[in-house]
Amino acid sequence: MTVWNDGPALVTRLAAPEPGWITQADVIVVGSGIAGLTAALRLRQRVNRVLLVTKTVLDSGSTRWAQGGIAAALDPEDSPEEHLADTLVAGAGLCDEDAVRALVTEGPQRVRELVALGANFDRTADGEIALTREGGHHRDRIAHAGGDATGAEISRALIAALDAVRDDPGIEVLEHAVVLEVLTAAGPDGPRACGVTLHVIGEGTRDGVGAALGRAVVLATGGIGQVFRSTTNPREATGDGIAAALRAGAEVADLEFVQFHPTVLWLGQSARGQQPLISEAVRGEGAVLLDADGVRFMPEVHELAELAPRDVVAKAIVRRMAATGTEHVYLDARQLGGRFLRRRFPTIVAALSGHGYDLAEDLVPVAPAQHYHSGGVRVDRRGRSSLPGLYAVGEVSCTGVHGANRLASNSLLEGLVFAHRIADDLTERLGDGDLAQGEPASRPGRALLLPATARDVVQRAATSGPGVIRSAEGLAAAARTLATLAQEAPRRSQRLTTPGTAEWETTNLHAFATALTWVAALREETRGGHYREDFPATAERWHGRLVVRVAADARLSARFAPLPGTSPVVATGTVAGEG
Ligand SMILES: Cc1cc2nc3c(=O)[nH]c(=O)nc-3n(C[C@H](O)[C@H](O)[C@H](O)COP(=O)(O)OP(=O)(O)OC[C@H]3O[C@@H](n4cnc5c(N)ncnc54)[C@H](O)[C@@H]3O)c2cc1C
Repeated sequence: MTVWNDGPALVTRLAAPEPGWITQADVIVVGSGIAGLTAALRLRQRVNRVLLVTKTVLDSGSTRWAQGGIAAALDPEDSPEEHLADTLVAGAGLCDEDAVRALVTEGPQRVRELVALGANFDRTADGEIALTREGGHHRDRIAHAGGDATGAEISRALIAALDAVRDDPGIEVLEHAVVLEVLTAAGPDGPRACGVTLHVIGEGTRDGVGAALGRAVVLATGGIGQVFRSTTNPREATGDGIAAALRAGAEVADLEFVQFHPTVLWLGQSARGQQPLISEAVRGEGAVLLDADGVRFMPEVHELAELAPRDVVAKAIVRRMAATGTEHVYLDARQLGGRFLRRRFPTIVAALSGHGYDLAEDLVPVAPAQHYHSGGVRVDRRGRSSLPGLYAVGEVSCTGVHGANRLASNSLLEGLVFAHRIADDLTERLGDGDLAQGEPASRPGRALLLPATARDVVQRAATSGPGVIRSAEGLAAAARTLATLAQEAPRRSQRLTTPGTAEWETTNLHAFATALTWVAALREETRGGHYREDFPATAERWHGRLVVRVAADARLSARFAPLPGTSPVVATGTVAGEG
């Protein structure tokens, strides 16, 4: 087994005041996107006390921004087997086939339950759930709501279900509660999770930094988009869950597989943070990509043209931008007509109009931006991480479902399906008396923080190093910048008198960027969401996962976990053929 023990060192503890209050629950769920809300709602019916904490408000996170929809084989002509096949192709050889099988077979029932809960999906004239197609899918299997407001509707329905049980003493919700650390207890078999520390902007006793103790912790903290200069992810997506899991000693995997969405509105060089996404569904309905000279270029790149897997489209755009010396290409939806576009994509039409573009009349400038992270806290098919008592679900997790590249609209489904699995597993374990409450142990090492002003430096390093196009040289430069920030942390921490969310987030972004840059340099091949221009081919020897953790000396350590069989990518050349 190949092991690397020479990774960069991470901050072992975030500097923060000592907890001034304590609360107790059976299970603590962190995050209120589709994954956290689903887990909390299902657990509430089965365990005595659930605490749901979320960084800002309940509908924060990526879920409410999801446009295209949720994938499930709901059409009688479709089948889970076909959904499985499309997912495996997009995953470029690194999917965990059993995890995908769970996703696609349980998915249709989970979506029907969401409908029963009150989520209003768009319907056909005869009352069936309307299904459309997105990149990489060979069937119409994307259920959508409000045209292009699927995530907002799912979020609304789940929050309404939560509101209906708010008075139930079995569930407590804490908003404006930023989780800082996963607490661990010493046990005969090694450390295990026993709660979290969190900072709450609240009232009465629950104010400031406190500790929430629990028999299990479920991380559902979403993505990492804010580590890049431009992303489709909202401001809460700062990789807190991955950073906290690493500091607690849990394994993470597939960090290098970052999906860049091909069609994000290009707002100029100085644009930062969350940018408007133009869903793949617009291409699904027939919009095409044109280069600066007005030439359509995707048909010559892939048999699915504009509906090829996202990494293929994003790379083709970047190459075409380089060839034509421009910073964007154009999306042409003019042939779809204003009436259809306003009815089918009201959110996108309104967002573009706010920036002066008419989707029915204009060529719209688009460029790739960070969109989704396939990697995360490594979990098994029950959602258990390598740290006993710690679970992860949704975008923060790595179930192996997405492999090297997520198939469009599989992420909402993953949150839904695996939240149910976690609730089932925890119900059984807690019922059996497993996972007794542990006493938090103090964590060795000095507590540190990066100043909020370091965020821009981190974002620049992440964008130029492990961005869309990666190379040994670019990654080494990014690693040097990040190491310099880490070296300055002790001196800068001393000057910080009042640590706050901006500093905690920046330190988490730095930890994630450091780990991402390191593994992106280790993987010397191109596969899925990892494009190395100095290693442009997919290599059979890299048919496996890079699993990373923090070792006792605070340095990152990685091991290569080979996957069984031959990489189908290498055998067939489907996705790799584009690299
Ligand atoms: C613009 C856009 C469009 C998308 N379209 C689609 C689509 O059509 N189909 C699809 O399947 N997927 C889509 N995705 C991806 C999908 O929305 C996400 O992967 C999915 O919603 C993630 O759900 P989640 O529950 O894991 O995390 P999120 O919905 O991101 O929720 C994370 C939660 O954790 C909280 N949190 C974070 N850090 C902390 C902390 N330290 N302490 C406490 N709470 C914390 C956040 O506030 C938030 O409540 C899209 C994403 C974006 C950004």
